Amino acid sequence: MLIVTEETCKDVVGREDAFKAVESVFAAMAKGDAYNFPVVREAIGYADALYGFKSGFDRAGLALGVKSGGYWPGNMEKGLTNHQSTVFLFDPDTGQLDALVGGNYLTAMRTAAASSVSIAHLARKDSKVLGMVGAGHQAGFQLRAAAEQRNFEKVVAWNFHPQMLPGLGEVAEQIGLPFEAVTREQLGAEADVIISITSAHEPLMMKDWVKAGTHIACMGTDTKGKQETDPALIAASTVFTDEIAQSISIGETQHAIAAGLITEDAITTIGDVINGTHPGRASDDETTLFDGTGVGLQDIAIALAAVKLATEQGSAKEIEL
Ligand code: NAD
Repeated sequence: MLIVTEETCKDVVGREDAFKAVESVFAAMAKGDAYNFPVVREAIGYADALYGFKSGFDRAGLALGVKSGGYWPGNMEKGLTNHQSTVFLFDPDTGQLDALVGGNYLTAMRTAAASSVSIAHLARKDSKVLGMVGAGHQAGFQLRAAAEQRNFEKVVAWNFHPQMLPGLGEVAEQIGLPFEAVTREQLGAEADVIISITSAHEPLMMKDWVKAGTHIACMGTDTKGKQETDPALIAASTVFTDEIAQSISIGETQHAIAAGLITEDAITTIGDVINGTHPGRASDDETTLFDGTGVGLQDIAIALAAVKLATEQGSAKEIEL
C-alpha cells in the first residue's frame, strides 16, 4: 500500500494535473461511466466537528475510493487547518486498499480546477476582468487557477471581511495582475468572470449588478442553507453544474429551485459541455453560471493523479498493511 503525504501532494500535483483530472472525471460522469455515492455528513457531537464521507467509482478511469474528513472549528487555535481530509483509494478489481493520500491541499486544488474547467468551457474568450467574491483559504487557489484560463488584465474583489482582501491582493501581485478592492455593484459592472467562494448564507451578488455575458462560478455553496447568489440571477442565466442531484439539494441552485424560479431540467452538467453533447455558451451576451458543489469523484480523481505522479517521482511511501 502507498502513502502520499500532504507535503508530497504539494510537491507533485500542479494546476494542470488538477485540471486534467477534474475535466476527465466530469466527462466520465456525464457519460454515465462514473458515479458518486450518497454523501454522509454528520455533526458528531464532539469538538463541534462535522465529519463525513464522499465516495464514488469511475469505471473509465478505474478509480474507486472515499474522502473522509470534515470541519473542526477549533483547529486554528492548534495551528491546524479547520478542514481536514484524507483520501483512501481501493483496487477496483480486489477491493484492497491501494493508497492513503493527504486530502487538504488536493481539496483546494480540485475545487479551483472545477471553476477553471467551467471558465475554460463557458467564459467568453475575450474576458478581461476577473471578479473575486471571497478572500478566504480557497480564494487564492481559485484566483491562480482562473488566471490561467483567459488573458485577464485585472482582478476586482470584494469580501465580507475586508481585512482579508490584502492577502488575495498578494496572490494577484504574484501572478502579475493589478488588484482592486471594490463594492459588489462595481464588481458586477466590471467583471467578465466572477468566482464566489464564501461561506455566506444569503445572496451576495444580485441580478441587476451583473452585466450580460458574464460567466459566474458559484463555488462556496456546498451545504443546505448556504447561499451566495440572487436566485433571480440564477433564473436569468444558463445554468451548469458538476452534478445535478447535488446542485438542487446542497448547491447554489437549491434556493432558485425552492422558489420555483427554475426547474431541474434547466440545469446541464458541465460534463455534457466537455463531451460536446451540449454546445455550452451560445452567444456573447448570454450569462452562464456554474454551480460547483464539489463531488467525491473529484477527490478520487486528483488523489489518483497524486499517486501516479508521486510513484513516478519516487516520493510515494510503500508500507505493508
Ligand atoms: P474560509 O473560512 O477560509 O473563508 C471563508 C470566506 O467566506 C471568507 O472570504 C469570509 O470572509 C467569507 N464569509 C464568512 N462569513 C461570511 C458571511 N456571513 N457572508 C459573506 N461572506 C462570508 O473558507 P474557505 O476554505 O475559503 O472556503 C470557502 C467556502 O467554500 C466554504 O463555504 C467551503 O465550505 C466552500 N468549499 C466548497 C468546495 C466545493 O467543492 N464547492 C470545496 C471546498 C470548500
